[in-house]
Amino acid sequence: MTELPEQAAAETGASASPREPQLLRRALGAQALIWKSRLSWRITMIVFITIMMVQAMVMVYTARIQEQEELATLWREARAGIVMSIGDTRDQLRPPVNRDEGLNLISSTLVQGFAVYALDQGLLQTSGSHTVLRPVNSPVALRTFRSSDGGTYEVLYTPDELARPYYVAAKLDARRVKPSVVAHVEQTLVILLLLACFVTTVLMIVLGEWLLQPMILLRQNLLSAAKHPEKPVLLRPARESRDEMGLTLRIASDLIRQNASNLKRLRAQAEDRIHRLAYYDALTNLPNRTFFIEKLDEAIRQKVLQDKGRIAVVSVDIDHFKDINDTMGHDIGDRLLEAVGKRLVKSLPRDALVARASADEFMLMIPLPGDASSEVIINTIVTSMAEPVSILQERFQVRVSVGAAHAPDDGVDARQIVKNADIALTRAKEEGRDTVRYYSEDFDRVVQQRFQLLRDLRLALDHNQLQLHYHPQFNLSTGQIIGVEALLRWWCPDNSREGGRFIPPAEFIPVAEQSGLIVPIGEWVLKTACAANKAWQADGLPPFRIAVNISGVQFHRADIVQQVETALRDTGLEARWLELEVTESVFMENVDVAIATLDRLHKLGCELAVDDFGTGYSSLSYLRLFPIDRLKIDQSFVRNALVNPGDRMIARTIITLGHSLGLKVIAEGVETSDHENFLREDGCDEVQGFKYTQPLPEDKMRAFARQHFHLVSDKGNVVPLKS
Ligand code: C2E
Ligand code: MG
Ligand code: MG
Repeated sequence: MTELPEQAAAETGASASPREPQLLRRALGAQALIWKSRLSWRITMIVFITIMMVQAMVMVYTARIQEQEELATLWREARAGIVMSIGDTRDQLRPPVNRDEGLNLISSTLVQGFAVYALDQGLLQTSGSHTVLRPVNSPVALRTFRSSDGGTYEVLYTPDELARPYYVAAKLDARRVKPSVVAHVEQTLVILLLLACFVTTVLMIVLGEWLLQPMILLRQNLLSAAKHPEKPVLLRPARESRDEMGLTLRIASDLIRQNASNLKRLRAQAEDRIHRLAYYDALTNLPNRTFFIEKLDEAIRQKVLQDKGRIAVVSVDIDHFKDINDTMGHDIGDRLLEAVGKRLVKSLPRDALVARASADEFMLMIPLPGDASSEVIINTIVTSMAEPVSILQERFQVRVSVGAAHAPDDGVDARQIVKNADIALTRAKEEGRDTVRYYSEDFDRVVQQRFQLLRDLRLALDHNQLQLHYHPQFNLSTGQIIGVEALLRWWCPDNSREGGRFIPPAEFIPVAEQSGLIVPIGEWVLKTACAANKAWQADGLPPFRIAVNISGVQFHRADIVQQVETALRDTGLEARWLELEVTESVFMENVDVAIATLDRLHKLGCELAVDDFGTGYSSLSYLRLFPIDRLKIDQSFVRNALVNPGDRMIARTIITLGHSLGLKVIAEGVETSDHENFLREDGCDEVQGFKYTQPLPEDKMRAFARQHFHLVSDKGNVVPLKS
């Protein structure tokens, strides 16, 4: 049997933890609910009404029986009086009931009047009240007659009933019948009413116990499950019942518990997943930048701000990772990142934290006790990278650029220190990569200036503040202009008397490269240079090449072939009058891609020159693989050749090398006749330098060329280079 709610126990989710006062309140509430329950009232009312209806029918029936019995009693009593008063034989001379007995019968019995009939149904005698029943007309069914007010009851006794040879019709006083029936009805009514109440109450209690209470419990459990699906407060009966309701209750509780534990598990899984997604890098399983900054913040508060030591924050960037990714595929790139991550974790102390901050950048947090230096640990990191990484039978030599900042030395704000370490890293990359740089405040100032420069440069591109100047190139033996190099100038207006100043390309091109702004700028340079050359040709000048500098970023990141094609098509310049200057480091960054791109450019018909040759680290064996036309000796060798025999040697070697590969060699930075002379002696083909002119704006270049070719025609195609 289901327990009363007072005894019910509650459980939360899977584990039951009775909380008495709360339970009691709940239980009392449940009891009250039973009496408020519509269902229980409906059932009770139906049962009550049904019982009352049945009772009413039973009562009508028993009342009738009671009446019949009363009348039967009347009948018997009257018959006894009549039998006593009437003679048992027929005497023709005397009346069947003598006068005195007749009067006595009427006065002392219920008989109010009577009529005696002979066997032949002839009336023999009447006395008292008049009777209506007669034997002749009285079929068996009409042997009694009741007055409409129920006060009299007429009966017709047969000779058999009287055991006398007469029919007697008697009118009886029936007034006592009605009160007796009424008393019976009242009595029965009270009993039946009590019975109905009792049955209803018992039914109500039984229903409450077995049906309503479990249902209320079930409802409360379901409500609780709906309200707190993960932590439902489950009420349960103190004693389990084995009936259908008990079973239903148990199944429902099991389901709710199961649902709660499923939800909890799913939520935990989801939270865990969200946490991993938000804080971990899926590839290396290392924490990400967000997590790193949170932990760093925590460590600074617990350690640095409590004077318990310092923290080194180190940014580690894999040099040329993009090239590995591009040439070897992303799978290899991913494996390399995993391997580097593992190495970093291995090479660091246990309390250090390694995170993957971005594609190829790792962030390290290294707690330092007291004044300890981070240098030794950072050196260990760099050394740990010395061993090549083996991936799919290939060995990759990983080099890293490292930037480090310290808390509290370089700040106590986690984000700021990370930023400072990144600034130091940028500096390390700028200074040739494969190196370590420690943050200094100067770096930050430089960075701020660069940001400003970048903002201004974007405006410059939009406001046409960029111009090209042209630096002529000459054939050293004929003195004829064979080309010009387009050099970018940024006219930056200011409040000075001149109205502005030229910012040299060395200042803004690295910033443009870093930000990717070099791509649209380079596109503009290409178009403007081609247009200028085409305009000179249209102006009647003999055609010569225009050399355009292509930055490494532009070469690798933009579709340079497409850019060149577009520039040529839009300006109508023939491809052979365009030369592209690319530095050797650009070639070497990604040899396969570089060869493919250069091939495509060459097929377009453009000439290709290696700029600043000799300063990079080009592998000479690779050089012959590149479809190039010209080597451009870096101006530093030319400048120093006369004072430094080593540089002269290099210049000469470059010339010999170029010629041996079937290439033309041009020297830039020719400032004096001495420079020109030694280059002529060493067999250099072409020259460019301030000796002849500074780079010139478009109009001046046009005039310069016009004058130059005029001289050429005057002097029979031979222009001696000015000395
Ligand atoms: P670069 O391509 O090696 O250009 C030659 C640089 O040497 C030019 O400097 C030129 O003015 C300078 N020069 C030429 N002859 C002499 C000389 O006799 N004496 C001295 N002292 N200098 C001489 P500039 O114009 O300042 O350009 C510097 C660098 O900026 C260029 O070196 C090139 O790498 C880059 N650059 C210039 N224009 C562009 C451009 O449109 N795109 C890209 N990507 N880079 C450019
Ligand atoms: Mg150049
Ligand atoms: Mg150069």
